[in-house]
Amino acid sequence: MRAARLTGPGTLDLVEVPTPEIGPEDVLLAVGAVGACHSDLHILDAPAGAFPTPLTLGHEIAGRVERLGEAVTGWRPGEAAAVYGILGCGQCRACLRGQENRCRTVPLGGIGLSRDGGLADYVAVPASRLLKLGDLDLVQAAPLTDAGLTPYHAIELARPALRPGTCCVVIGIGGLGHMAVQILAATTAVTVIAVDSDAAALDLATRLGARHAVPAGPDTVDRIRALTGPAPDGADVVIDCVGVDATLETARQVVATGGHLSLVGLGGGTLAVRPSVAASIPLEASVRVPFWGTRAELQEVIALAAAGLLHADVRRFPLDEAVRAYQLLRRGEIHGRAVIVL
Ligand SMILES: [Zn+2]
Ligand SMILES: [Zn+2]
Repeated sequence: MRAARLTGPGTLDLVEVPTPEIGPEDVLLAVGAVGACHSDLHILDAPAGAFPTPLTLGHEIAGRVERLGEAVTGWRPGEAAAVYGILGCGQCRACLRGQENRCRTVPLGGIGLSRDGGLADYVAVPASRLLKLGDLDLVQAAPLTDAGLTPYHAIELARPALRPGTCCVVIGIGGLGHMAVQILAATTAVTVIAVDSDAAALDLATRLGARHAVPAGPDTVDRIRALTGPAPDGADVVIDCVGVDATLETARQVVATGGHLSLVGLGGGTLAVRPSVAASIPLEASVRVPFWGTRAELQEVIALAAAGLLHADVRRFPLDEAVRAYQLLRRGEIHGRAVIVL
């Protein structure tokens, strides 16, 4: 079968490999679609040894059951499934609470992270990682598993603050941000303020339910403040899907006293947090660095999509253009989500 594999730092190669064997509790999935994620770029850019090589990339996977391990029940060949990508230990206090994204023993364990992922004709996954998709389109479904799940989890963590009539700022309307806007629109009555440097991304945010669209630039904070009011008021929740110094600074300056900063984007910026009233986050504010989400949350994300309330804005690429898809993603030329279709 074909597979797009990390073979060394910075190198993604399309190669022929044997179809994976499955154990008794695994399912062999015929891959239908795989979302191209910014974190794949981090994997590509990582120094030698940071990830196992060769490693088939792709952790945002939807496909159809091809073959079942002998101990697997509840699935039949041909059924559509989404892959929950996290592989926690299943035994620590976090995993036992269903919070495998907080596993205390396995750091960053996942399909396409610590073992072969979905950028291939087939992927072997433990049956416990599969969720039913019903008749959802696989190309639509693949981005739900990370680009949908990650902001959904961030919103879940901030949900007590997302009261009707409050403001939520979403910075960065890319793969995750355009899902965040829809999840907020579908599950809250907050005023969504979208921020991006790209006019097309802001148009998309407005179409998806953002009340206000603010271009990123020197007056971003003033424009958001004109909508939320001056400090100590402000946005109750800020979800930064970019995470560079400039967006973190915007987030810090617009969040309300007692508000919530959710740092979703892994942009490598730094946010100063000091017990101080000057040049730090506001008093009583909290900062979260959410990671991916739980299986239960993925099931809810799939339910939102099945109800027609969550659509990925998708640009399709065949597997032999996977390298190009990541190049475009790196250059910021993908709106919504790039999805590799097999
Ligand atoms: Zn990802
Ligand atoms: Zn664990």
